[in-house]
Amino acid sequence: MADRVHVLPYFFGNITREEAEEYLRQGGSGDGLYLLRQSRSFLGGYALSVAYGRQFYHYTIERDMNDTYAIAGGKSHRTPIDVIDYHSQESDGLVCLLKRPFNRPRGTEPKVGPFEDLREQLIRQYVKQTWNLQGSALEQAIISQRPKLEKLIATTAHEKMPWFHGKIDREDSEQRLLRSSRVNGKFLIRQRENNGRNVSFALCLLHNNQVMHYRIDKDRAGKLSIPDGKKFDTLWQLVEHYSYKPDGLLRVLTETCPRPSHDSVPQVGFSPESNHTPSPNLAKKRCTNTPLSSSLSPTGSGRTPALLACEAMPMDTQVYESPYADPEELRSTTVKRSDLTLEDGELGSGNFGTVLRGVYQMKKTQKIVAVKILKNDDNNTAVKDEMLREASVMQQLDNPYIVRMIGICEAENLMLVMELAELGPLHKFLQKNKHISMKNITELVHQVSMGMKYLEEHNFVHRDLAARNVLLVTQHYAKISDFGLSKALAEEENYYKAKGHGKWPLKWYAPECMNYLKFSSKSDVWSFGVLMWEAFSYGQKPYKGMKGNEVIQMIESGERMSAPADCPAEMYNLMRKCWTYKPDERPGFSVVEPRLRHYYYDISQ
Ligand code: ATP
Repeated sequence: MADRVHVLPYFFGNITREEAEEYLRQGGSGDGLYLLRQSRSFLGGYALSVAYGRQFYHYTIERDMNDTYAIAGGKSHRTPIDVIDYHSQESDGLVCLLKRPFNRPRGTEPKVGPFEDLREQLIRQYVKQTWNLQGSALEQAIISQRPKLEKLIATTAHEKMPWFHGKIDREDSEQRLLRSSRVNGKFLIRQRENNGRNVSFALCLLHNNQVMHYRIDKDRAGKLSIPDGKKFDTLWQLVEHYSYKPDGLLRVLTETCPRPSHDSVPQVGFSPESNHTPSPNLAKKRCTNTPLSSSLSPTGSGRTPALLACEAMPMDTQVYESPYADPEELRSTTVKRSDLTLEDGELGSGNFGTVLRGVYQMKKTQKIVAVKILKNDDNNTAVKDEMLREASVMQQLDNPYIVRMIGICEAENLMLVMELAELGPLHKFLQKNKHISMKNITELVHQVSMGMKYLEEHNFVHRDLAARNVLLVTQHYAKISDFGLSKALAEEENYYKAKGHGKWPLKWYAPECMNYLKFSSKSDVWSFGVLMWEAFSYGQKPYKGMKGNEVIQMIESGERMSAPADCPAEMYNLMRKCWTYKPDERPGFSVVEPRLRHYYYDISQ
């Protein structure tokens, strides 16, 4: 959403209400003249400033829980632009109809707030320090989790600010403020002793050699305010506000009282603002070890609630970072049987045999793994070769959104040891969990597109991309699996030509696969469109009740599946693009992934 709003000529960015009024005055202040600016109190919110009868009126456009926008107490709309369109027709509580936008003077860009400048830097620093990531793992983490990281940073950024002194007592804060310069308006914020989870802060302000202490409380909705004062989402917004106007304080905040240098990282207590623990080990423990190390329970029972409750980011889990990251640990792709313990109970099964959960004893750590075990019955070499082929493809792939192979174990059976994605196939998960939000589905589908973009860049075709082959590590972390049909393309080729028709998942295949036996990243894009349809329909069967040849006829006649109920129009449009008949006209994953990414960011603001 931010992207779309930022290009509006009447969007002024992070300006104060006084600046907004000055602009409207320049514009002649005619009744209904308006401009839009960024809210300085609510994250992701906007403010509408309107001129009427020589006065100015300011309305906050808040983003609510359902990702819609509304002026407090008013009708909800999908975007802030829709709010403006609506109030151009209906005053509905506004002082007058919105008549004419006031556009930014030539050469004036929307004003960037002081925090935005810092944000990018802080996000990188945070991801690097918290999960100890670098290179492409760091980039991929930021791309897939940007909206959550931005919120996290916004609500914890105060910990990095020089005016935030952490948990110090009243006397200590007074000593600090009275030390050296005694400029009026010098200030700091401290965290107060809190009972239980209710964190509160205090703004300590120097006024005529005396220190005033203003309590900052957090209400049930998490908004921060000085008693009876304006509410804010973050401490830095509060500081920004009181730095330009006293608004009930004895004076404006002028000079930061910096933290003593020996105390560069303030001591903070448990901060419910950030439900993240900025320690790599703790974070991983908190969100994965509990459910993953719990005793085995059969698929679909017992273990899901714990993981469902967990808002873990992919980087919090043990399977984000590459198992190959530590060369000391995985030096070969052969797994010794003595290092592998298999547990009872199946994770799943297929033609080849079963998949069990297991524990792989590495040099330094233990890893919980999934083990695909080839059934030995008739010593079928074709199935064995297929599994070895799958292993040789997987061995070449290393991406957080792809199930990675740990190794092959040749013992009582041939076994393929892989990263564990305990919540199982996407379609089944969605069938059982209809409460999952569209935003959550978009997040998962976007991750699949990231994994597919990686395959496309590395010249691999998957050939069996479907919701059944996307496995979930958590409700917020998807990995592509099942490389049984996958092919590595030679440098100079951009497609694989099959020797003949096989037992194919026809409903997922593009027309050129059926007609010319040609498989490429573009045919994977077609399958991805079907996968999106499965995901947005909560795991329904595509082309339900139709036979393979009926589906082919339908596609050849130009007809496509209709949109799943409640599917966002943007997502259905993208599916339709994926189902472009000619592969040359069909977008690649290099186009599909950013489209999904921007839509996901838009709805997550
Ligand atoms: P076939 O190759 O015969 O078509 P399949 O495609 O069903 O079989 P897989 O998808 O590899 O075989 O595995 C079967 C099931 O085992 C999956 O649907 C899933 O439930 C479970 N499974 C496979 N790999 C993993 C894994 N890495 N983590 C957790 N569960 C897994």
